[in-house]
Amino acid sequence: MRLVVVGGVAAGTKAASRARRVAPEMEISIYQDEPDISISECGLPYFLSGIVEKRSRLVARTPEDFAEKKIEVLVRHRVEKIDPETKKLTVRNLTDDMTFEDHYDRLIIATGASAICPPIPGDDLDGVFNLRFLSDADNIMSYIREHSPKGAVVVGGGYIGLEVAENLHHLGMEVAVVEAANEVAGVYGSEVSRRIEHHLKEKGVSVYVSAEVEEFTGDGRVSGVKFGEEELSAGLVIAAIGIGANTDLAKEAGVKLGETGAISVDRHMQTNIPDVWAAGDCVETINLASGEAAWVPLGDTANQMGRVAGTNAASPDGENPLEFPGVLGTGIFRVFDLGIGKTGLSEEEAEAAGFSVKCASVESPNRAGYFPGAGEVFLKLIADVDTGRIIGAEALGAGADKLTDVCATAIWGRLSYPDLVNLDLAYAPPYGPTLSPVIQAAMVLSGKFERSTEGVRSTE
Ligand code: FAD
Repeated sequence: MRLVVVGGVAAGTKAASRARRVAPEMEISIYQDEPDISISECGLPYFLSGIVEKRSRLVARTPEDFAEKKIEVLVRHRVEKIDPETKKLTVRNLTDDMTFEDHYDRLIIATGASAICPPIPGDDLDGVFNLRFLSDADNIMSYIREHSPKGAVVVGGGYIGLEVAENLHHLGMEVAVVEAANEVAGVYGSEVSRRIEHHLKEKGVSVYVSAEVEEFTGDGRVSGVKFGEEELSAGLVIAAIGIGANTDLAKEAGVKLGETGAISVDRHMQTNIPDVWAAGDCVETINLASGEAAWVPLGDTANQMGRVAGTNAASPDGENPLEFPGVLGTGIFRVFDLGIGKTGLSEEEAEAAGFSVKCASVESPNRAGYFPGAGEVFLKLIADVDTGRIIGAEALGAGADKLTDVCATAIWGRLSYPDLVNLDLAYAPPYGPTLSPVIQAAMVLSGKFERSTEGVRSTE
């Protein structure tokens, strides 16, 4: 039995490793078009600034490590075609540019996502980069070494753009973030986005919102970025405008795509084609808070999906022992001193999904107020009016990671605000205020729900 995995980063390598554990005798190969496998893309912004010092620390395992587990890895090989009828693959060796045929009994598509950038005049100038692969980081760093740019413009104020902005600032560059929407970090509510913008400016990063880039200017090499009446000087541009799922290979093979445009899979991570599974950034799943189809391209999710796909693809025919239930889209990132986390739906997303919501926001010290080193944390809880269930949370500031994870667990366990009011969480002065901000926010919600119930009674 031969398993072929297409794509060798988070989902693909996890799937192959799990398959090896489940089926010690299975023949397993991974095709990866990039020169590196098993890389931590999440660490790339910190590699740019040198916070992560060594390139090798971003490569979790090498092809040699996989060979020890009897998993063959072919880097710089791109799978160009899947024929599900004959179970044949057309593969291009990117080193000699020759193609050859391979075959599979079981196939896992883990082709991930790529940076997308709508064509902007001047985007082919030297010094305009995306950041997705380790090779992108290599190119950016060698450009910085060669040209020592004084100013950088990051186009796009999503989490990757903001992480890059921070890290270029650490390198001593003057950094501007240019965002087309009217706020940075648009998947968060306005309260959070405004605070992030304020913090960036405090740290000396310029922020332009409602600013659609019209042109990158320069003569061979980028020297400026034009939008509206502005032209910013820029010796380096990182375009972090967005990413799109890599679905062409799957689509051409007849694999069904979902409503988000990513690959559609069932709870076993199986596609509509027999013996073909898919996992990671190339697939869509369900947002458990809204029940709607969601595309949430995140590293931990890709890993978890890979585990399910790898186990199922290596199990005896028809068994499919593992299921992937869906996601809450829980994520966190850092901008300078701020941790910014989110789980479930923002207020705006909840309303767009048809929920009627009540929200509560609190600001609280992240330790006992008298304890040295206490910082501030902001937490917003979003609850469904009909059931009282918590369906979303956003946290920002010191200790945002812990609050985000507590709230994610609450949403996962379908808890409602009265459950959180009495939640038994740990407390000691160095670790938090007497009542966790989660409990404080649940108490505020409780007051809002009680008042609205009284309101209903008074009109009866
Ligand atoms: P990918 O990482 O996209 O890997 C798929 C691989 O398959 C690619 O190397 C691709 O080139 C290759 N491939 C595609 N088609 C073919 C083909 N036909 N043949 C052979 N190979 C092919 N996530 C978080 O959860 N937290 C973070 O803090 C975070 N930070 C990030 C920061 C940055 C700068 C970036 C770029 C991403 C970050 N992510 C983060 C997202 C995370 O890295 C991805 O969700 C994760 O890498 C997805 O893994 P994947 O295996 O599904 O896809």
